[in-house]
Amino acid sequence: MSSPREAAHAAQQASSAAPASESTHDYRKGESRVGRWSIGDVRVTSVMESAEAIPWSPQYPPETADHWKKYDWLVPRYVTPTGQIIMAVQAFVLEADGRRIVVDTCVGNEKAREIPHCSGLQTAFLEDLSSAGFAPETIDTVLCTHLHFDHVGWNTRLVNGRWEPTFPKARYLFGRREWEYCETLLREKTLDVRHILDSIQPVLDAGLAEFVETNHRLSDEMWLEPSHGHTPGHVSLHISSRGQEAIVTGDVFHNPIQIAEPEICSMMCVDKEMSRNTRRQVISRHGDTATRLIAVHFNDPVGRIVRDTNNWRFSPE
Ligand SMILES: [Zn+2]
Repeated sequence: MSSPREAAHAAQQASSAAPASESTHDYRKGESRVGRWSIGDVRVTSVMESAEAIPWSPQYPPETADHWKKYDWLVPRYVTPTGQIIMAVQAFVLEADGRRIVVDTCVGNEKAREIPHCSGLQTAFLEDLSSAGFAPETIDTVLCTHLHFDHVGWNTRLVNGRWEPTFPKARYLFGRREWEYCETLLREKTLDVRHILDSIQPVLDAGLAEFVETNHRLSDEMWLEPSHGHTPGHVSLHISSRGQEAIVTGDVFHNPIQIAEPEICSMMCVDKEMSRNTRRQVISRHGDTATRLIAVHFNDPVGRIVRDTNNWRFSPE
């Protein structure tokens, strides 16, 4: 398998070579898209940082590149008519009982990253967040489902040449187990750790970080559940309010095809077999129920797992 750097270059080149006419949507960065849903009394707002059509490989194994053709329901919301995957990156704001919780903070601006199309971004995400009614100083909690670069980016922003917490009045919740994994990466230095240094360490330095267990309860209506595999300490957020249920799934799924084929792993999954087991558990527990999935990389992010003849599919709402 190629290195992440080679893979990223290949992805970038294939992406820029794709014909513009194939898209029915404008899959560009900073597209100022906001969505709103309610789970009982919990209000959910998504603020999209980017939604781009990228090649199947190397994000997914090349031998699965034509599997999308089996699933009409994926096109064009989640896969383009020519088989590119639509990779959304978005944050969710949850409001309940006067709380304002941001779940996952995208890639962020001006950050140097190994994947070229994620490096040095200049999007309007923060303006979009404020326009949606969420000025940064009104956020009281930030939760990162895991500590990959595309889930921690807006934890900080560049102010006078320094990375400072974007949400100065928030407690930032990081999984203790996930942070221990980061510490291992910092020691080993075999992977790119710049996101730890520019998007997590400044939060620790400012005294705003809180390390939590994988079953941490945020309120009567919201608690964490372990969903390890994609990373060693990955968590999901369970919402239960007035008889309605939802799960913010982080990177348990990257694209809804993994609901039909949970064995397909993203190249970013650290423990592939564990990530497959976690997907199968989520599908068997929530398939054919009223529980909504709220999925950070899905272009239309909220929906249910429903029966599709003799398989499962995602039904967005
Ligand atoms: Zn991700």
